[in-house]
Amino acid sequence: MKKVSVVLAGACGRMGQEIKLVLEERAAFASVLEVDRKGKCKQFKALKAQPGVVIDFSSPELFREGLAWAVENEVPFVSGTTGITDQDQVSLKKAAKQIPVLWSANMSMGINFLLSLLPQLKALEGYDIQVEELHHRHKKDSPSGTAKMLQNQLTTSLKRKLPEPVAIRGGGIFGIHKVWVMDEEEVLVFEHTALNRRIFARGAARCAEWIVGKKPGLYQVLDVLAAGTNRD
Ligand code: NAD
Repeated sequence: MKKVSVVLAGACGRMGQEIKLVLEERAAFASVLEVDRKGKCKQFKALKAQPGVVIDFSSPELFREGLAWAVENEVPFVSGTTGITDQDQVSLKKAAKQIPVLWSANMSMGINFLLSLLPQLKALEGYDIQVEELHHRHKKDSPSGTAKMLQNQLTTSLKRKLPEPVAIRGGGIFGIHKVWVMDEEEVLVFEHTALNRRIFARGAARCAEWIVGKKPGLYQVLDVLAAGTNRD
């Protein structure tokens, strides 16, 4: 099997560092070219090599640069950057006409499995539903991209308006997401806890490995789950 070379955007960040460790452990990947404003990293415009995939965990600004570069160079694009706008979502769809694209605010398999369950809450008509999230004090966006993703899945599948997600910031929490489902006589809570950043890094690496060789299109982590490569 030919090894895949990677351009990693946000390479010096918390997620970038974790992803580098995971890529080093996985046989499918070869060299990693690092893009960041810190350290000895390069900028997209200075890149000469043609990688097999771009993995981006950075900021909305670098996400935009990375996506444009991936389209120009016809390289698959996997991104977990949050805080991106509706216009960025339009850009992802546009890019997906030319290259394979996978963006997700949460690359863990557990959250994506939960997403697939939420439409079933339609059966619990009249129950109050509330999304809640807790993250470390350094997290810039609020509510989290994952909370928005859960909220979006709930409002579109249940076809009703819900209260805005509750966001709590503090300490070193990697990420806790809850969906409260409440009646007067019972409470059901779906809860996902990320125990470390590695869970997202492993998810990103799996998505990157899976997307190489795919046709242009907008893919989801659920597509990777459905492909059945459940374990690393
Ligand atoms: P971080 O701040 O630690 O790292 C971001 C890195 O990107 C930094 O090293 C910074 O220098 C670099 N960067 C940002 N903008 C740049 C620019 N314009 N030019 C050059 N370099 C630039 O952040 P983090 O905790 O690693 O998170 C990165 C992103 O990933 C965030 O959006 C976060 O919410 C998201 N995230 C997603 C998931 C997921 O599963 N999808 C999980 C965790 C974090």
